[in-house]
Amino acid sequence: MPRTLSAALSASLLALAAAPAFAWDAHGHRVITYLALDGLPFADKPAKGDAAPAPIVTVPLWLSSPEIKDAVAYQCAEPDRIRAQPTPSLVHVNGPDHYLDLDMLPRWGMTIDTMPTLRHRFIKELTLARPKFPQNFTDYDPAKDAANENEWPGLGAQAVMEAYAGLQASFRTLKIIEIAGAEGRDLQIAQGRQNAVFYMGRLSHFVGDLAQPLHTTIHHHGWVRDVATFPDPATLPSTWNPNDYTTEYAFHAYIDGTILIHHQLTVESLTPTQKHERTVNDMDPWGDVLAHIKRSFAQVEPLYRMHKDDTLRGPEGKAFISERLHDGADMLRALIVAAWTSSDPVKRDLDYFTSGTPAAGQPSLPEMNTRRIPARTGTEAEQARKEAEERRKARSGGGAGKTPPPAPTPTPAPQP
Ligand SMILES: [Zn+2]
Repeated sequence: MPRTLSAALSASLLALAAAPAFAWDAHGHRVITYLALDGLPFADKPAKGDAAPAPIVTVPLWLSSPEIKDAVAYQCAEPDRIRAQPTPSLVHVNGPDHYLDLDMLPRWGMTIDTMPTLRHRFIKELTLARPKFPQNFTDYDPAKDAANENEWPGLGAQAVMEAYAGLQASFRTLKIIEIAGAEGRDLQIAQGRQNAVFYMGRLSHFVGDLAQPLHTTIHHHGWVRDVATFPDPATLPSTWNPNDYTTEYAFHAYIDGTILIHHQLTVESLTPTQKHERTVNDMDPWGDVLAHIKRSFAQVEPLYRMHKDDTLRGPEGKAFISERLHDGADMLRALIVAAWTSSDPVKRDLDYFTSGTPAAGQPSLPEMNTRRIPARTGTEAEQARKEAEERRKARSGGGAGKTPPPAPTPTPAPQP
């Protein structure tokens, strides 16, 4: 979670390293991951309690295995592990994915609601807008940003969408292999599941990061003078920090980890209060991702206030931090379920896969490499749902005299 490893932060991390209970930020990400995966709806076991009705939407049973959960829990911390590497190319492409400084967007004449969904379009619009507002960027010094990491307000929302789409694609491939027939495809199934684990890990990380309020604001490492609002360095703190919130850089690490240790927040302690109720638009969860970020951003000032009046360390603070972890987990679970329900393949997907990906023992022919598949359209996504439903009906023998197939996945209305 930490943005840059300053000397001050290094000192605080060293202090934290002595804490015996558990690691800090990786722990929080793991908690979110397990709380989400434990709430997934499986066909043969209700998500909550024996009395609960069987869920209408279900995900495949292999996602319930302890090995898969542990693998995702390992993978969910990987974006921070690679962030710790000093290679500029890696920092450049990975660093801004961990946050969105929502309150910085007006510098570019933009708001979260006008921010483009696509990464490169977003950067292009930021670049084009910047010359119009030179007074807003006097705090940015390219000479101090070798990896070109800090020029942007953050790409966390786009990173969530990309991980979601990657997971959707991995799930789709697994469904295709199931339709194509598993014979000779054990390796492909195993690797396909690993691909899904990879994307679930990334999705968990970035959803979790954005549930941490300090990952949504310019005040990410203590309250700062925003030069776009208060350009005069002589401005008194009473002007730009009227409530006298902490300006400590180490505040971020304190929220990332120390406070979780203080309240002993673990999977076990949080499981009884974890809700599994959020749903997202599975064909386009952009609006849901923005709502997730806005919920977190709304907690920025309350977080600073609770730190100032020291309620953060009491029961109120425990409930506050727990709510942020719960919200991250519920959002992650909803996105995983949505990636599954929206990943049905059309026949062309199946033809493309089987023609280019031979099962064990089948030859790889040159013409396989010439096949190309055009991008799918929204209409085809609906067609994919219909074809999947027909396959389900066919598998259940048409329904006559047999157990009825699961109800079709409800399709949420598109975001306005
Ligand atoms: Zn992070």
